[in-house]
Amino acid sequence: MKRRDLIKNLSMLPVAGAAGSLIAAEVKASPTPAAKRNLFKELGIRTFINAAGTYTFMTGSLMRDEVVEAIQYTSHEFCLLDEVQDKVGAKIAELCKAESAVVTAGCFSAITLGTAGVLTGNSQENAAKLPHLEGTGMKSEVIMQKGHAIGYANALSNTGCKVVVIETMEEVEKAINNKTALLWFLNIQSDQGKITHEQWVALGKKHNIPTMIDMAADVPPLSNLWKFNEMGFDLVCVSGGKAIRGPQSAGILMGKKELIAAARLSMPPRGSTIGRGMKVNKEEIIGMYAALDHYMQYDHDAEWKEWEGRVATINNSVKNIDGIKTEVKVPTLGNVTPTLHITWDKTKMKLTSKALQEGLRNGDPSIEIVNNGDEHISITTWVMKKGEDKIVAKRLKEEMMKGMA
Ligand SMILES: *Cc1c(COP(=O)(O)O)cnc(C)c1O
Repeated sequence: MKRRDLIKNLSMLPVAGAAGSLIAAEVKASPTPAAKRNLFKELGIRTFINAAGTYTFMTGSLMRDEVVEAIQYTSHEFCLLDEVQDKVGAKIAELCKAESAVVTAGCFSAITLGTAGVLTGNSQENAAKLPHLEGTGMKSEVIMQKGHAIGYANALSNTGCKVVVIETMEEVEKAINNKTALLWFLNIQSDQGKITHEQWVALGKKHNIPTMIDMAADVPPLSNLWKFNEMGFDLVCVSGGKAIRGPQSAGILMGKKELIAAARLSMPPRGSTIGRGMKVNKEEIIGMYAALDHYMQYDHDAEWKEWEGRVATINNSVKNIDGIKTEVKVPTLGNVTPTLHITWDKTKMKLTSKALQEGLRNGDPSIEIVNNGDEHISITTWVMKKGEDKIVAKRLKEEMMKGMA
């Protein structure tokens, strides 16, 4: 969707739907018709072509038209939050071959809330006690592999639990005790641990301890949406606002029925819980469903070819510049999309990657790429809009030629 159209859609918001005629009068009466407003410009906010990928600091991904339409549509009626979660959860569970599901405020919040559910079980009283576990009788430890213990593990300690880090099968067997609540696995770091997915699930079954996997950025491939449920993980956490292009502030927690029900005890509309600040309303919940429903249906092969075609356009514009090396790679874990890596000989192209990044950022239109340090940048095309690859190809070449002078 073009930014212009998004703004138009946003401004159309009050006139669509059931309340249309009533609110249309207000729109007419407003001195500046909202349709004419460019809020980014008014607020002085820089927008840019995203040749980097789905980064929270770059506002993630762009919601599909279907999602924005769902948000607009649902914003005109009241309903019960729990009923929205019940009905949407059932649909998402069906699509992802899980027992049950709930929409959360992102993958991070799915991890926190899923862990909360594991700790509290089916007790609203327990949910009100988090993040204080001491003396409550609740379990209090989560085990993970050393290679998985990156910043996102804070989502677990938000519940008050302690993270126990191990490396080998022998160590995990030793670490498990009667306080162990959960075995946590981080898919994107699965090559950084000694224990495989299947072994992790088996450990959980053997000791009767739930297992959870964070696969936030691991669609595509589409099949990952059910792979880990089928593998036997009790809880699976996904980001809604990455490749699925749902609301950036939405995600999915899915898995065992009783654990999802328990997680919801820490979620709105129940106040006095750690999840009260992780609210998603009907618009995000149904927007998440609309995004997933669409994601399940469209032609992923055609989309992949389009991404590759865009990468080729950009690659072709710069690959023959003297001293430059380009390579298209597909990461095996996380953001599995064609990625163009560009490196260069600094005696030939006298530019640092930082200078190149800033040149593109400060140009018109502004473009964001990934700076890998030294003489290495990378570019992806999966969050670009149609035609932006040609602009990036032209601008990248222009900036690189500055280094050849
Ligand atoms: C993005 C990401 C998260 C956080 O997901 P949100 O949907 O932004 O909350 C967690 N874990 C991993 C591995 C991620 O890539």
